[in-house]
Amino acid sequence: MNSLTDGAGDSMIFGAKLISSERITPETSKVEVRKLVFRTDSLYFDSQVGSCIRVLAPGEYGSAHHTRLYSIADTEQSDTGAQFEICVRRCFDIDEASGEEFAGVASNYLCDLKPGDEIKFSGPVGYPFTIPKNSNADLLMIGMGTGVAPFRGLARMIYEKHGDWKGKVRLFHGARTGLESLYMNDINNDIGNYFDQPTFKAFQVLSPRPAFDAPIALDKVLERNSAEVWEMVNGPDSQVYMAGVKQMHDMIDNTMSRIAGSAEAWTAKRDELIAAGRWMEVLY
Ligand SMILES: Cc1cc2nc3c(=O)[nH]c(=O)nc-3n(C[C@H](O)[C@H](O)[C@H](O)COP(=O)(O)OP(=O)(O)OC[C@H]3O[C@@H](n4cnc5c(N)ncnc54)[C@H](O)[C@@H]3O)c2cc1C
Repeated sequence: MNSLTDGAGDSMIFGAKLISSERITPETSKVEVRKLVFRTDSLYFDSQVGSCIRVLAPGEYGSAHHTRLYSIADTEQSDTGAQFEICVRRCFDIDEASGEEFAGVASNYLCDLKPGDEIKFSGPVGYPFTIPKNSNADLLMIGMGTGVAPFRGLARMIYEKHGDWKGKVRLFHGARTGLESLYMNDINNDIGNYFDQPTFKAFQVLSPRPAFDAPIALDKVLERNSAEVWEMVNGPDSQVYMAGVKQMHDMIDNTMSRIAGSAEAWTAKRDELIAAGRWMEVLY
């Protein structure tokens, strides 16, 4: 499996113009996530859902660029270029000792862009989330926070471009509050409404105590559905996708070990899925 890091350079640099910027968490939510749609006229940029672009934000303290990765949530490629969407969470940290607020460089740069502004980026970076050829294959998607973004594009691709999908498609998504669940909240319920397909089911998991940063019980929901999850993982052509913050890696590993019956059983199954190209993850 590949590992993605911020900072390393890619050979070709592209330009893209911002078409639209829309806040997709409500104004009342403390978390600001924006959906940004860009267009590049370059015919060399191979835009694919699940891979990442490396954004070259203006650098600080003498460095030319501050580079950070963002997953492509949705895309449309044509013979005049590509349109692609990323979801960006505006990052802030407060130094507990001094109380000073630090703004994340690239996320604030992106969230402050106005339509018509241009960015520089390179990529694509990382494996795209590919869809199996066999439409009977089960597809299991596990995401946290902005990690749900590529799954929206993936689900669209499954039903719009591949027609009638017969295998089960299951999305397990964890967020701190219902307002922050991006595509499943009251104002942006397009996963709930748009993907009203007989084969598609989404499980949304919220933190029991969002104000206290209590852990999101994604593990509990996976375990409550353990029979189906295990059956899907063991399906002949099934595919497992995972996207979101790095911290979810251990949680998912521990949960799947419980579902598999032991850590050894899960490690063996996971190695088998990875070797067959049936396990795809983008963690950050
Ligand atoms: C494979 C991959 C895919 C990703 N996909 C996405 C995605 O789809 N959407 C998304 O939103 N993010 C994604 N990320 C995360 C993204 O790349 C950035 O890491 C994130 O946006 C923060 O970058 P930044 O430049 O804004 O923050 P940085 O400037 O790198 O700062 C990081 C954090 O540290 C804080 N900080 C900075 N300086 C200080 C200081 N002196 N003291 C204390 N705190 C400080 C900042 O406030 C911020 O919270 C992805 C990452 C990877 C690796």
